[in-house]
Amino acid sequence: MDVLRRWAKGRTIARATLLHPSFRRRISPVRLRSLVGAQVERVERRGKHQLLHLDDGRILHAHFRMNGDWEFGKAGDELPRFARAVLEFSDDTRIVFVDSRALGTIELHAAGAALDLGLGPDASDSSWTAEQLGTALATRRGPIKPALLDQKLLAGLGNIYAAESLWRARIDPRASSSSLTPAQVKALRKAVAAVLKRATGSRYTDDSTVDLDVYDREGQPCRRCKTAIERIVQAGRSTYFCPHCQAG
Ligand SMILES: [Zn+2]
Repeated sequence: MDVLRRWAKGRTIARATLLHPSFRRRISPVRLRSLVGAQVERVERRGKHQLLHLDDGRILHAHFRMNGDWEFGKAGDELPRFARAVLEFSDDTRIVFVDSRALGTIELHAAGAALDLGLGPDASDSSWTAEQLGTALATRRGPIKPALLDQKLLAGLGNIYAAESLWRARIDPRASSSSLTPAQVKALRKAVAAVLKRATGSRYTDDSTVDLDVYDREGQPCRRCKTAIERIVQAGRSTYFCPHCQAG
């Protein structure tokens, strides 16, 4: 995502090409040509959706499903296998939508179109704020741990990293979402960023290879206070926490 941002943000589209028939059905040649000259103002990720906000208000919306990804290079380089779409920029760089199973999609949304993906901001996106999270939690019923797994609140945070984040922020997973203080919400926002930074690459799959602080450590001493970690089940998912330092 940061790579997409680095390569696309601020660049001006010189040519857009759709290579796969399923993509061509979604964006007509005329609309495709209308992309020429548009500048990518902002790149946003929500779950597996990537939104390239153009300077004319339109949004180029890529959605990877199983295993799509962007590849970066110079215009004119040989195309990678399974290239489905290409955006060339005015400085002769390009990004290529590569998707071996061709299950991903690209769409172009008109300026001002309401875009409801049913998703909150992406957990790993650095642009969402503690204030946004606080606002979303303020009206929310139920405990904080299941809330963090709700993609409408925050997209892309798995069960493991929700537990890790709460441990790091010293928040009781059973605490009511709306009861968190602004200081707790701020600590939680920071904790999510720190946990995901450490776990880069394993966000969606949860098959982490990093050392976990609390997840799957039932009965073992808390890494902060040595109290035995406890396991409970919330909304059908295991939650691990330290009953001593996550008491608040
Ligand atoms: Zn502890």
